[in-house]
Amino acid sequence: MLNNKYTIDLLAGGIDGLTVCYDIDDKFFQTIDGLVAHGQIQTTVRVEAGTRTMFKLHIHSVGWVSVPCDRCLADMQIPIDTNDELSVKLGSEYSDEGEVVVIPETDGYIDTAQFIYEFVVLSLPLKRVHEPGQCDEATLRALNSHLASLEDDEDDD
Ligand SMILES: [Zn+2]
Repeated sequence: MLNNKYTIDLLAGGIDGLTVCYDIDDKFFQTIDGLVAHGQIQTTVRVEAGTRTMFKLHIHSVGWVSVPCDRCLADMQIPIDTNDELSVKLGSEYSDEGEVVVIPETDGYIDTAQFIYEFVVLSLPLKRVHEPGQCDEATLRALNSHLASLEDDEDDD
């Protein structure tokens, strides 16, 4: 049902051009299992109604998130600025497998939270490491000695 602020009722009248703005913070990221636990993002969702059953959501997110550095595992902030489109169709049963998300016509609403999250994560660079010299040296040393002790254990076998 329409139980959270990220839900958009596609059957509501006059929805074409509807624009919704969200201030997204840690609370949002903590409700979704995944890579990102912290962040501060402003997201705008604009609805474009095509036919009676086809919609396009234009989702724009700006801000930052923090994710673990690939090298030292300490959190690092990454700026976010991503513009995405989500095609939505009313149909018989829910599906988000293909290019078009299908929403049951009997429900008529879409929860945009998961999609906002996925677009933010997809916009992250593949390689996420601190600038040279910015890594957490203490963690790196601890990691290295942990790896070394793992290797020692293997030698014992
Ligand atoms: Zn690092």
